[in-house]
Amino acid sequence: MQNKLKDLQPVVYQVLSNCFKNNKLSHAIMLSGAKTNIKLETAYYIAQSLVCETSNDFACGICDSCTKITNQSYADFKYFDGTNVSIKKDDILNLQKQFNKTGIEKSGKKIYIINAAENMTIEAGNSLLKFLEEPSSENMIAIFIVDNLDKMLTTITSRCQIINFKPNDRQSCIDEAISLNVDEFDAKMISNYVKDANGILLVSESESYQNALCMFTEFNNDLFMLERVLVSFQTNYMNNKELAKDILAQFINIFCTYLDDYLLDSVLLKDKYVNLNRYLEKNQMHLAMIYTILLETQGKIYRPFDLNLVVDQMFYELQEVIK
Ligand SMILES: [Zn+2]
Repeated sequence: MQNKLKDLQPVVYQVLSNCFKNNKLSHAIMLSGAKTNIKLETAYYIAQSLVCETSNDFACGICDSCTKITNQSYADFKYFDGTNVSIKKDDILNLQKQFNKTGIEKSGKKIYIINAAENMTIEAGNSLLKFLEEPSSENMIAIFIVDNLDKMLTTITSRCQIINFKPNDRQSCIDEAISLNVDEFDAKMISNYVKDANGILLVSESESYQNALCMFTEFNNDLFMLERVLVSFQTNYMNNKELAKDILAQFINIFCTYLDDYLLDSVLLKDKYVNLNRYLEKNQMHLAMIYTILLETQGKIYRPFDLNLVVDQMFYELQEVIK
């Protein structure tokens, strides 16, 4: 974990390293930044580092205390997950009750992690605030994980040491998504517009993405028969407007990703769409026009425009460019 953190989030690594060395870690830490799996891993890693039996800075990860944190069996450790259900006032009151008792583990430290802390009821937030203001012990450490700092009560954030995570770079998203069994091609494609591995997995399995990808392949195979793509889109999907919108949005994401990669001369996706490559080599001037059509359409999909008109207009305009 130490090397992973150092590679993926060098600034976070440095901040934590200094805190551990100088014993200056705050009693309330907030890990903030774009959705990345590594925030949760880091939260656990900090908890381990605080109680590790063999190391004074970063945790060893294998001693008895480290293992107990991983298994959530460390008696003075509590994990709350707000990703699917919001944290309630009772959760905080129970935590308070439990942590007011004398610590059981030998480190004396009591640690709790709240994941997706922005997903907390107002009552829970207020109880938490009281708990932060009057901790029952000097050795209590709170670790919060948030995707969106703006959604947190400022009275809470102002009491926290905030550690900012940078968004994942594309390659690390791809690697992580592949490790979740996402097909390599899909990982390369989706990582351009979804910046976390779980999100990439979800999109790759979605009906809208799969259909949009077929549409794009069909388009590449016969560039000058755009009308055929339009007709098959209308016949197959327009009876379900919500799905049609998602497919159109994915189609545009895919198209823009292809264009981004073409411009960057990236080999990620280029070898797959030979016809389009050939076309763009001959018609470089059209690239900016195509981008404009796609982005203008993208801005209309989820707004109150008539979807039929939006679709027709996009295909008509593309057809005017690609002749
Ligand atoms: Zn350890």
